Amino acid sequence: LFIVFEGGEGAGKSTQVKRLAEELRAIGREVVVTHEPGATPIGKRIRSLVLDPPGEGGDVVTPRAEALLYAADRAHHVASVVRPALSRGSVVISDRYVDSSLAYQGAGRTLPVDEVSWLSKWATGGLKPDLVVLLDLDPSVGLARAGKRGPVDRLESESLAFHERVRYAFLDLAAADPSRYLVLDATNGIDALAEGILQRVRHLIPE
Ligand code: C5P
Repeated sequence: LFIVFEGGEGAGKSTQVKRLAEELRAIGREVVVTHEPGATPIGKRIRSLVLDPPGEGGDVVTPRAEALLYAADRAHHVASVVRPALSRGSVVISDRYVDSSLAYQGAGRTLPVDEVSWLSKWATGGLKPDLVVLLDLDPSVGLARAGKRGPVDRLESESLAFHERVRYAFLDLAAADPSRYLVLDATNGIDALAEGILQRVRHLIPE
């Protein structure tokens, strides 16, 4: 069982990932919690290329290079972490996956979404999640929440309009394939969200 959490900045994905993992472990399931970008040692180096502030000379990764780097991180992550864990029978919960690329590199950076989708399909060998939990949040609220957690220099360089395109891209993906998505309003309380997610996941787990 492969479950992915998606959403914009400050939506509370990591809190809900942790909660779901605890609840599934409590009912005896083996769970692997992972994330993109940067879940592996090689992935961490890729993450630093795309997300660390530019060094001397201000050489910022260009959009197509960014899309390829996220795809490289994902290819390595799927082959070295996700597929092996699924083969062992573990539940895999990933904080971000393909939809983040469609939303950020596609809609956000305005690269052709079908091309980003093709790139992700190639990188993953077509591995699709069984369920995507989308924590939906108005980006002006999310960015304020995320800002409380630390420096937001990079986020400030991405306009509110960028994050609004990202939000609507996630919602469009969910609307196009409702049986695979659970869309939740991320302004709800932590416990209420966790309960909603667990209920949906229980349907996917054989007794
Ligand atoms: O989920 P997390 O906060 O670790 O994501 C780090 C950042 O990477 C996010 O702020 C998001 O803007 C960015 N990101 C991206 N494209 C992706 C995945 C993440 O721009 N495909």
